[in-house]
Amino acid sequence: MLPASTDVLVIGGGNAGMCAAIAAREAGADVVLLEHANKSMRGGNSRHTRDHRVMHDEPTATMVESYSEEEFWQDLLRVTGGNTNEHLARMMIRKSRELLDWLSARGVRYQQALSGTLSLTRTNAFYLGGGKAVLNAEYLTAERLGVEIFYDSQVTAIDITDGHATSATVVNRGFTYTINARAIVVASGGFQANEQWMKEVWGDAADNFCIRGTPYNRGVVLKDLLSKGADPVGDPSQCHAVAVDARGPRYDGGIVTRLDCVCFSIVVNNLGRRFYDEGEDFWPKRYAIWGRLLAQQPDQIGYAILDSKVLHHFMPSVFPSISADSIEELARKIGIDEQALAHTVSEYNHAVVDGSFDKAVLDNCSTRSLDPPKSHWALKLDTPPYFAYPMKPGITFTYLGLKVNDEARVLFGDGSPSDNVFATGEVMAGNILGQGYCAGTGMTLGSVFGRIAGEHAACCRN
Ligand SMILES: Cc1cc2nc3c(=O)[nH]c(=O)nc-3n(C[C@H](O)[C@H](O)[C@H](O)COP(=O)(O)OP(=O)(O)OC[C@H]3O[C@@H](n4cnc5c(N)ncnc54)[C@H](O)[C@@H]3O)c2cc1C
Repeated sequence: MLPASTDVLVIGGGNAGMCAAIAAREAGADVVLLEHANKSMRGGNSRHTRDHRVMHDEPTATMVESYSEEEFWQDLLRVTGGNTNEHLARMMIRKSRELLDWLSARGVRYQQALSGTLSLTRTNAFYLGGGKAVLNAEYLTAERLGVEIFYDSQVTAIDITDGHATSATVVNRGFTYTINARAIVVASGGFQANEQWMKEVWGDAADNFCIRGTPYNRGVVLKDLLSKGADPVGDPSQCHAVAVDARGPRYDGGIVTRLDCVCFSIVVNNLGRRFYDEGEDFWPKRYAIWGRLLAQQPDQIGYAILDSKVLHHFMPSVFPSISADSIEELARKIGIDEQALAHTVSEYNHAVVDGSFDKAVLDNCSTRSLDPPKSHWALKLDTPPYFAYPMKPGITFTYLGLKVNDEARVLFGDGSPSDNVFATGEVMAGNILGQGYCAGTGMTLGSVFGRIAGEHAACCRN
């Protein structure tokens, strides 16, 4: 049986919701947390994560050197093209400094920074055991504090008048309940797993998307609140989308299906044509544009084509590469017109300018008079066997969300802050991420705004 009332009702049991629930309970409120998934699937997208981005003035136990507010802000400014709320973003950055201690005190453990293709040793703290371990620690802490957690509980609507909420409607194992609450924290993620909504935005192309995380983030509460006067933020077509192996599952493929080979490949569509500069910049700065690029191709599919010289320069996919001794044979194996692919490769090979290959810098291996160019790491495709990875858009999370203020209060009717509805995590990410992405920002903003939302929500009980 679900309770009839509580002080603070948290909707969604990912990292953002758990941080809010813990903070509200520590501030003295009775807290109920509702999670749509069952216990084994709890934790939303957060369980797939590896790290978060943290400002720090000096080396920490798990991060090297320093990462200042200004540098974090400039990184965010660059990737979003200015499409961000500076006040909220800077507040998030400053408060990220407290996260290592705050989360560590609540059971989260960190490991030495990994050096890999994302080279984030200075800017990001890596979780020991990944996101799943983070969630297990947060659930354990919440339970010990007395947060009441209910699984298989989908919130379908919030009863709200003029921005003041009184209760939520919940479906639990086929039964419908109403829970009265003095405050509500919405932490129910984006809407990327809502196939119908995605089709409204992307058309039939959405049928060919993989959703990298949970199938439960369907935007039900987001849509409900927007229909009841909450101010929207962000564009429905903006999202974090990467290239994933096209052989991956429709949902929950997680981190292992991501393909990190683009810089060292040429990428063609199913007509055998290149469509973007694969070597534009370092992979961490560009990986989040490739999902959108693939979404714009026929049948939303692309193929990374490599030769044996570069095979060991990137983290391999969980699926084996498709290999062949000639480009024509490779084309046959992946179902592309042989002559079209051979022509593209030959045109590319002729355009490659000799340089000295160095994957650690923006090297001088590039193409001349080729459209689109390959600006760095351009080596001839001339050393068999040749390899291909099929790629699809992998949607991580959508950016359309609820507009909030610096107390994480949801704004209603052109800017009035609600007295008792708060939001954190993906569902308000668009306040900071109008477009683009800096690796590790998702967990940072969920934790920072989760704490803030929980603390302020707890005050509503008085
Ligand atoms: C494969 C992958 C890797 C990632 N790696 C990183 C990383 O390393 N670092 C990083 O910062 N970010 C990463 N991200 C992004 C990150 O996961 C998200 O930004 C972050 O987890 C968002 O947290 P959240 O709590 O808002 O959402 P989630 O963790 O998705 O939690 C939302 C929860 O709400 C529940 N829910 C949804 N609707 C309802 C409803 N109506 N009623 C009740 N419950 C509901 C869902 O079941 C879910 O548990 C990654 C994402 C993916 C998919």
